[in-house]
Amino acid sequence: MSKIGHNKVNNISRRRFIAQTATFGMGTAAASLLAGFPFANITYAAKSPIKTGTRNKVIKSNDEWKRLLTPEQFYVTRRKGTERPYSGEYLYNKEEGIYQCVCCNTELFSSETKYDSHTGWPSFWTPIAPENILKKDDYSFFMRRVEVLCSVCDAHLGHIFNDGPPPTQLRYCINSVALKFIKKVS
Ligand code: FE
Repeated sequence: MSKIGHNKVNNISRRRFIAQTATFGMGTAAASLLAGFPFANITYAAKSPIKTGTRNKVIKSNDEWKRLLTPEQFYVTRRKGTERPYSGEYLYNKEEGIYQCVCCNTELFSSETKYDSHTGWPSFWTPIAPENILKKDDYSFFMRRVEVLCSVCDAHLGHIFNDGPPPTQLRYCINSVALKFIKKVS
């Protein structure tokens, strides 16, 4: 099954990371990895959004979203914003459960695939189901990144990088404010 491969994010040069670390210091090199700074040399072949979800689309006007969301939720999910690193409420959450889209409640990520990437944002190595997200090329801020969106309501969630852990080697770098955690009932 090659859905992930279809939107494959190719390898970052780890040697380049080490070289950056030596040249600019760990902070600069690490920042380049999490932010997708151009000299991180990320190459990928993401296609335009592929809609494979089974739920009907949730479509609302900006005024409707503003009524339903907090200003920060609106800024991140509907304006493609980014929360400040280390500010999100789920960054250190280790409870078992499901992370839903804050806009439409679609199940996006499981606590089972959450890990600490030390980047300041909640990180997952895979979504709960590939059809629940969209991947889209993002060339904003003079960077080349892969944006992650909710496939049902098109909420901006974050970005994907290729420095994640096995088995996918991917890091879904997700804004806490775009998520709603539902704790597992034991
Ligand atoms: Fe959504």
